[in-house]
Amino acid sequence: MATSLLLTDRLKGVIGDRTADALAKSFGMSTVEDLLRHYPRRYVVRGEFSDIAELLEGDEVTVLAEIAAVKTRRANGRNILEVNVTDGSAVMSLTFFNQPWREKELKVGKTGMFAGKVGSFNGKRQLSHPDYQLIPDGDDVDSALAGFAGKFLPVYPAGGKMPSWKISQCLEIVLDSLGEIEDYLPESVRNEFGYPDLKQALVSIHKPESLEAAELARLRLTFDEAILLQLLLAQRRAELKELDATPRKIKTDGLVSVFEAKLPFKYTDGQLEVNKEIAEDMQQPHPMHRLLQGEVGSGKTVVALRAMLSVIESGGQAALLAPTEVLAGQHFKTISKLLGDLALAGTLQGSGEGTQLALLTGSLSAPAKREALGKIKSGEAGIVIGTHALISEGVEFDDLALVVVDEQHRFGVEQRDALRMKAAKPPHVLVMTATPIPRTVAMTIFGDLDVSTLRQLPSGRIPIQTHVIPVLEKPHYLERAWERVKEEIAKGHQAYIVAPRISAGEEDETKAKISQADIEMAKLMGDEISSEEIAGTKDMASVEELAPKLATGALKGVKLAPLHGRQSSELKDETMAAFASGALDVLVATTVIEVGVDVPNASVMVIMDADRFGVSQLHQLRGRVGRGTIPGLCLLVSGSSEESPAMARLTAVAGTLDGFELSRIDLDQRREGDVLGRAQSGTKSHLRLLRVLRDEELIEQARRVATDLISTDPKLAKYSVLAAQVNLLREEERSTFLDKG
Ligand code: ADP
Ligand code: MG
Repeated sequence: MATSLLLTDRLKGVIGDRTADALAKSFGMSTVEDLLRHYPRRYVVRGEFSDIAELLEGDEVTVLAEIAAVKTRRANGRNILEVNVTDGSAVMSLTFFNQPWREKELKVGKTGMFAGKVGSFNGKRQLSHPDYQLIPDGDDVDSALAGFAGKFLPVYPAGGKMPSWKISQCLEIVLDSLGEIEDYLPESVRNEFGYPDLKQALVSIHKPESLEAAELARLRLTFDEAILLQLLLAQRRAELKELDATPRKIKTDGLVSVFEAKLPFKYTDGQLEVNKEIAEDMQQPHPMHRLLQGEVGSGKTVVALRAMLSVIESGGQAALLAPTEVLAGQHFKTISKLLGDLALAGTLQGSGEGTQLALLTGSLSAPAKREALGKIKSGEAGIVIGTHALISEGVEFDDLALVVVDEQHRFGVEQRDALRMKAAKPPHVLVMTATPIPRTVAMTIFGDLDVSTLRQLPSGRIPIQTHVIPVLEKPHYLERAWERVKEEIAKGHQAYIVAPRISAGEEDETKAKISQADIEMAKLMGDEISSEEIAGTKDMASVEELAPKLATGALKGVKLAPLHGRQSSELKDETMAAFASGALDVLVATTVIEVGVDVPNASVMVIMDADRFGVSQLHQLRGRVGRGTIPGLCLLVSGSSEESPAMARLTAVAGTLDGFELSRIDLDQRREGDVLGRAQSGTKSHLRLLRVLRDEELIEQARRVATDLISTDPKLAKYSVLAAQVNLLREEERSTFLDKG
């Protein structure tokens, strides 16, 4: 075939219809580019096989061996596939969790190359989830290996119908007839880093001359992903700077000063600094776009409130968007309390100064809603707090000047945009998150926001103690946990008991539940996730079972009530109010209490099936206790075995209160892929290689290059191929969470 294939050509017609169909089905590929972008996970070096008898634990090895035995078993609700292989020198085992389909290809008598890190289990050497390349039936080993052109055999993420060697064969065909490819990366940038051009990189990653060439190709392709994203974000930053906003300057004798004079505490140094950053942003004639991150309890609310008051001084309004009704209600109460009679302007109780608050949620009665809408429209309500109900059609503002978004990650872009449309000029935007985000993640995902961080907790806090309760090995620890709860209650304190789902036999409420993106990512990595994991229906604690059981059992005599997302908002409010006032001792709840709930008298939290929650989520949850001056205690109950990764995760949570550290662990655990993965529409994504933690340096470089390029040529007029590529990304990310701001 002539060397004329284009990236956009369809695979059908190039590699045979059946194979093309299988690639489409397994990986969603349809074009030559899709296939070329299916990068190998590693390379098996021909002739460098290890003897099984000589393997040492911890070695990265590839063995050439024959399958001697295959068996499956179940343990802890997982399907475990164990394959014994031998190379004549010794036997070793390969294990795969929840990938029953591999049994179909890993047949006794087959020979393959198996690569991975040597571990041990029960004193036996094993490879867990090795990469492998089976020798096709009918081929002897030598001729199979001879069939590959290079010395380095790429190992691809495989799917049920598409083993790695088949993918290799397709790529051989495509690479053989690949035409010229126009490189979108400017030559000056390529030269700066010594990167190969695009075609060379694509060839080298699949058919490397050397491992160094493969590595350089991979670097260049990873850099591509980083720079396209950074260019997009740099363009957005530039666009935002073009927008007009009303500058809001804080007066020396205005509402902010009155408020601060009444504040019962002093700002921390961190708060002072962030206050200043926000005030400076809002004095600009362009809208602020700032992310405020800080630990639970670090005092973000006060900072946000000050920003809100500063726009009210000049006649503007502020909207605070919360992800749930419970949280909106909490904010309303907290802010009312912080403002005192400053929130009662124009009413009999008011002192004349200040403003009014309006709460707008979906569950308001019609008259209450009418009243709130009226005050929002007239501008009487300077601070409007609500859920997404705020975004609905009927809501009109007099002069919306500032939008504060709490817990950003739960809001869609469209929703934020819709709210922004309600303002005459683009409002200032402040996004608050309690999930600490490592710097490069912030740069990658929130790259068009400026970032402020509160690292310090207000003084006087006593650090929370966290312990893991491994009920599988030590069931009696759980009784002790309930006793601890009773002891706290006897001291006049209160407790939360958290369960991952509302009722038995249905989906859980945790975010740890496996997302579509996770499933796709896992597929891409050649893993399979069991259907019960997907549905989250594995046996686990539920609020509806646990509450009555505790009420008549371990916590008999204690005043407890259930709280979850399916209750009416009246009931939820009633329960929360009762808990806040101390009329209830214990809340048995789902993660509805995760964010924002502030009851300083609560001192202990027991989290059931804690392994069902993500690391950051556990950290958020435990932030609900120890908020006052009494010490907090958090008990993580789990039925996982003490050696499991789940238990390691819980131990990590118990071991540190540093949210940044934990968010790194969280990212590691979720293979990081998830951070960007949620933004990936399946396999059709620009983000395949980039890993935000591992590639910190590369992301920094890409950001610098992107900022330079955009500052001299905002539309990339001189680089039309690159501009087209960035626009493609812009389209792709349009409806995803990368589109922040
Ligand atoms: P976050 O929103 O970051 O979770 P909050 O703003 O709700 O934190 O603050 C947590 C608690 O600490 C609240 O009760 C708040 O009133 C109090 N607080 C905030 N700033 C300070 C401070 N500088 N000194 C003492 N207490 C503070
Ligand atoms: Mg808060």
